[in-house]
Amino acid sequence: MLDTNLKNQVREYLQLLEREVVILLSRGDDENSKKLSDFVEEIASLSDNLSVVEEDLKFKPSFKLTAEGVSGVSFAGIPLGHEFESFILALLQVGGRTPKIEQEQIQMIKSIEEELDFETIVSLSCHNCPEVVQALNIMAVLNPNITHTMVEGSFFKDYVEDKDVMSVPTTFLNGETFNIGKTSLDKILEKVIGDSSKKDLNIDKTLDMLIVGAGVAGATSAIYGARKGLDMAMVAKEYGGQVEDTSGIENITGMEYIEGPKYMESVRSHLNKYEVSMYDDVEALEIVEGSLLKLKTNRGEISAKSIIIATGARWKSMGVPGEEEFKNKGVAYCTHCDGPLFKDKKVAVIGGGNSGVEAAIELSSIAKEIILLQRSDKLKADSVLQEKLKEISNIRVLTNVDTKALKGDNTLKSIEYENRLNGEIIKEDIDGCFIQIGLVPNTEWINNVEKNKFGEILVDRFGATNIEGVYAAGDCTDVAFKQIVIAQGSGATASLGAYNYLMRL
Ligand SMILES: Cc1cc2nc3c(=O)[nH]c(=O)nc-3n(C[C@H](O)[C@H](O)[C@H](O)COP(=O)(O)OP(=O)(O)OC[C@H]3O[C@@H](n4cnc5c(N)ncnc54)[C@H](O)[C@@H]3O)c2cc1C
Repeated sequence: MLDTNLKNQVREYLQLLEREVVILLSRGDDENSKKLSDFVEEIASLSDNLSVVEEDLKFKPSFKLTAEGVSGVSFAGIPLGHEFESFILALLQVGGRTPKIEQEQIQMIKSIEEELDFETIVSLSCHNCPEVVQALNIMAVLNPNITHTMVEGSFFKDYVEDKDVMSVPTTFLNGETFNIGKTSLDKILEKVIGDSSKKDLNIDKTLDMLIVGAGVAGATSAIYGARKGLDMAMVAKEYGGQVEDTSGIENITGMEYIEGPKYMESVRSHLNKYEVSMYDDVEALEIVEGSLLKLKTNRGEISAKSIIIATGARWKSMGVPGEEEFKNKGVAYCTHCDGPLFKDKKVAVIGGGNSGVEAAIELSSIAKEIILLQRSDKLKADSVLQEKLKEISNIRVLTNVDTKALKGDNTLKSIEYENRLNGEIIKEDIDGCFIQIGLVPNTEWINNVEKNKFGEILVDRFGATNIEGVYAAGDCTDVAFKQIVIAQGSGATASLGAYNYLMRL
């Protein structure tokens, strides 16, 4: 199952095991059980510190990693793809290696007295799932009151359908829905322990430069600012931004192909080379103008001589009835995350631009049937994508149609759209709907900067806004075209612009 190269790498990692790990294997006679057993046996053969013992567990097939005093981490399904790293990390942590998280987080996890039984449904192509799986595995390793099972959706289709799961990662706690979508260890702790888990920012000095947003624009601003020797910090709701949601990138100069999360990992290690303090899970709420600027956040105020806004953009919603109600219950945005849950089903894709057509093409190898709905009379995607679309037999393109409603009961069941040429309302049964109609800038939180009618922040050629000392970069601005290298370029411009401003203070 693993090629020689990977086996050699895993063998090397397993040398880090500090104690014996017993893998409890629960299997039946089916094909999936055979595949999972082969995987487990292959891994166990790579270290003398690993052994396999048969056991009856809730999921069949599944396996549980156990060692002295630790027995809470299970995998139902083969953790390959994006979950392979989660599996190796769990093995090492159960095998005695301390998880690389803050001491404060370790103490918080250890202080939990309640019994918490987590299950996370994932797909192996989901790049948002590992963060959740890894955070919960760490909790299960550190606290015997906590257990966590990663459940691979395609292995347990009936279970996933019974639980009406239509988006991954979906986490259940003691049988109840706990979280849907990407989340961090801090956010999980906040939900479990409450607000007391929230650490104060404690930035009591005045910074030279404060960057709001940790996507490619914010990260580039930070690197430029740090290289000028500025005293600086970067705060964001979440590190990574949209690139974390991008499966493959082929247009970063000098890099033929890279997956989004991998690219952001390399950006993080680049940032770590400099003295940039990074704070996640911080939501900017307001900028207060004055001789010193102040950023108000959900975790306190920060003073700075200059601020760079790089809060990017998010998926746009259609605003039709049913869209909110069936979010994660059939309504989805990310095809590579949630696409695998619609195997052999019928789905609608809304939007005939590049994102919509790419989504339809990606889904065509998974879903049974796809309808692609476009409001205007023709698709807007690049011709190369449109040509590709024509070759695919299970995609039906509908132009001149307006989505009116999404309907269902527990989950999405149908779509209603209007034929704009004759006003006829048509209802079609569907199992899923991927909305791909563009992005909106994350700028609602700031009202004292000038914006255009789309909500994009107006900047001059130095990245400066109308507020003295406040600069902006990337997708949250009116920069023409929203692309990675463009966001990076504007991040550099804003940082250098702010540096020039600081020099003249
Ligand atoms: C699916 C997809 C595929 C794409 N593919 C490509 C591609 O192949 N090539 C390409 O060049 N471009 C691609 N793009 C576009 C590209 O990803 C963006 O142009 C770029 O990532 C924008 O970067 P940014 O830093 O401006 O914003 P973002 O990446 O959106 O980052 C915004 C940051 O701000 C934070 N934030 C938001 N609001 C707040 C707040 N109130 N307080 C604190 N923090 C906040 C967020 O947590 C995040 O850290 C793609 C986009 C998508 C969605």
